[in-house]
Amino acid sequence: MNTSGSGGPPQEDKKKPADALGQETKSAGIEDLQSKLDRWAIARRRTVEMEGFLNTCVCGSDSAVKDQVEAAKAALKLSTCGEWLALRHYWQVDQLRLIAGEFCQQTKLCMFCAIRRGSRNMSVYLKRYEFLMAQNPRLKAYMVTLTVLNGSDLLERMNHLKKCFKRLLNGMRQSKSRGQSRSPFAAISAGVAAFEVTNQGKGWHPHVHCIVLAESEPDQEALSAYWLATSGDSFIVDVRPIDPFNPVAGFCEVFKYSMKFQGMALSDNWQAHLDLKGFRLLMGFGGFYGVKLPKELTDDPLQDQPYVDLFFRYLAGSGVYSYCRDGKPTISKKVFEERFPHEEKFNEFKAEFDRTRSDSLTAV
Ligand SMILES: [Zn+2]
Repeated sequence: MNTSGSGGPPQEDKKKPADALGQETKSAGIEDLQSKLDRWAIARRRTVEMEGFLNTCVCGSDSAVKDQVEAAKAALKLSTCGEWLALRHYWQVDQLRLIAGEFCQQTKLCMFCAIRRGSRNMSVYLKRYEFLMAQNPRLKAYMVTLTVLNGSDLLERMNHLKKCFKRLLNGMRQSKSRGQSRSPFAAISAGVAAFEVTNQGKGWHPHVHCIVLAESEPDQEALSAYWLATSGDSFIVDVRPIDPFNPVAGFCEVFKYSMKFQGMALSDNWQAHLDLKGFRLLMGFGGFYGVKLPKELTDDPLQDQPYVDLFFRYLAGSGVYSYCRDGKPTISKKVFEERFPHEEKFNEFKAEFDRTRSDSLTAV
């Protein structure tokens, strides 16, 4: 099965990263299989491009040896990331889940892992959001964006942004504990902040998007004045309500990946990965504090549902994911019975894949 549909590789997604994350997170059935594979193929292509770029760094004579070693290690991990994927279809309830694959976990460098990480994080925060809203139905959700001035030193700019944001949170806590309302965040009962960086050729542009829960809308004017006094270089803030009937759209804006891969040069992306190593990009506070993030980038399996497993391999030459078995992934009870038990088939698949990995990659 060639999954390319029209015969060519899926084209670069013109949709915003937040829309792509929405697609990634929503519950999907077998009819969404192709769009899932297309989205992952686009991400995998970017990962392959990055791997190629890093290999030129390794060979380049102007890089320090330490940088070359870093680049070689990162490229090696990228080379197998998303190379194969196992999807499980629960055919009785028509639900697809990504249950296994090879992931490099370099979420600031690899678009594939960034999409998966964003989707997984968003799912757990959405659950906490539903819990908090059920506890206090008077709460409303808002998206707050804060920026600092662009600059050429990424780490300096990101540290500056984080320091200012922490000052804002400290002001919020002091206002609460002293019963004062001097902080524009005083009425906020829960929040989660995602730090992001873009570079569109005018220097690094760090900013932070937050989802905050409060009974009344934070005052944008007061927040702007507070932010200018705190940051010393920016008054730019934005506050907008999140549609209570479609909170996922607002969450997608916040949880979309921390690097805007589209439009970011590979060299800038690599620099950001190095500079921001260990930099925590997600921060929960108030009722969102302490949310436990899943380690795995795969989906949670469903319990007590029959399934079939579908295996796909990325074909580097054609830039698509290709089905790894003869025939079509027709979902029926008969197919399910033929392929059961899962573990046996899975191990068989992995063994076969390992055997043919190098051949297949050079052949396509
Ligand atoms: Zn990866």
